Amino acid sequence: MTPATIQSHPWIADRANRFDSSGIRRMFDLARQLKNPVNLSIGQPDFPVPDAVKEAMTRAIAENKNGYTSTEGIPPLIDRLQSRIDAQLGQSDRRVMVTSGTSGALSLALMAMVNPGDEVIFFDPWFVMYPALVEMTGGVCVPVPTTPGFQIDLNAVENAITAKTRVIIVNSPCNPSGACLDENILRGLAELAARHNVCLISDEIYSLFVYDEPHRSPAPFNDQVLVIDGFSKSWGMTGWRVGWAHGPSQIIDAMARIQQFTFVCAPAPAQWAALAALETGMQPQIDHFRQRRDRAIRALSPAYDIVTPGGAFYIYPRLPWGTGEQFMRAAIDRELLVIPGNIFSASDTHFRISIAVADEVLDRGIELLLDLAKSPA
Ligand code: PMP
Repeated sequence: MTPATIQSHPWIADRANRFDSSGIRRMFDLARQLKNPVNLSIGQPDFPVPDAVKEAMTRAIAENKNGYTSTEGIPPLIDRLQSRIDAQLGQSDRRVMVTSGTSGALSLALMAMVNPGDEVIFFDPWFVMYPALVEMTGGVCVPVPTTPGFQIDLNAVENAITAKTRVIIVNSPCNPSGACLDENILRGLAELAARHNVCLISDEIYSLFVYDEPHRSPAPFNDQVLVIDGFSKSWGMTGWRVGWAHGPSQIIDAMARIQQFTFVCAPAPAQWAALAALETGMQPQIDHFRQRRDRAIRALSPAYDIVTPGGAFYIYPRLPWGTGEQFMRAAIDRELLVIPGNIFSASDTHFRISIAVADEVLDRGIELLLDLAKSPA
């Protein structure tokens, strides 16, 4: 988030220099030198796209459904999503649109609502795209620390709100902590957003990846909440770029106007595949992820300070020694890839591992992490 001392080409606009991705880049540069790494840095499911969804994609291509779609998405997908949302929330002014991934929905939402100088609150640790997108739209990042259990302190949020606050972004289950927010906190946040007349964006991309309790959203408590979600993680189709957003119709209208002149539409065949995805249950895959989480937590807890993640597919332990960079280098010496927490946080106290890897890889990773916890040598 702090502007790095990037050697910039004179043609590059300030907006492209205002966020720093050098940490992640350095990580990938180092990783590329390893021949056969135990890679726990990956943020996508290891299960394949279900066959029915693959078939819907190839059928759509064969049936020449390859052109532009309407800006807001193909009507059957919109209708299917809209009826699901209406059944869940029953709010009269809630409309859905299809976007180019959840990232597309996030970009459109911030472009639609943030004027230069406006403040956007999000929570530390954050998903890496939040500060970057806020910076790109000319907004001002206001990260609010979470509690040691990665819950939100509503007083801290209230104190961070100013006359310039336009948006609050919440992400539950959270990337990178895996934390699921308590329902009373989501309700409090929803009410607080309503009281201060700011938009609460709820990034629910991991809504299917919940292991202990049903997924909870702030939307039932405030009909102005903008929810964004996507097919990338839930059906393992990260490369197909389909997501959706639903919220007050005027906000969706503004986002659709921007989509018309930027992304145009989500990829057409992938929208037909997404329609099939909505009919495809993923519980076996989710159960498998729960088993991996349980195994990893059981094995790592004696050696690491860990808040058990209730969802997503990440574990975010406290660093046992040293800085994130030192820890990462020692991990790389053992051919293990993890992500240092200072990419997701103002503090350098944690690191992220992904459990979305084959069981053998996870087991190898656990062994290496147990060894690594002892000492830097
Ligand atoms: N939000 C969160 C919290 C994420 O972790 C990700 C992907 N890593 C996204 C949004 C974006 O996902 P996509 O654009 O693939 O739908």
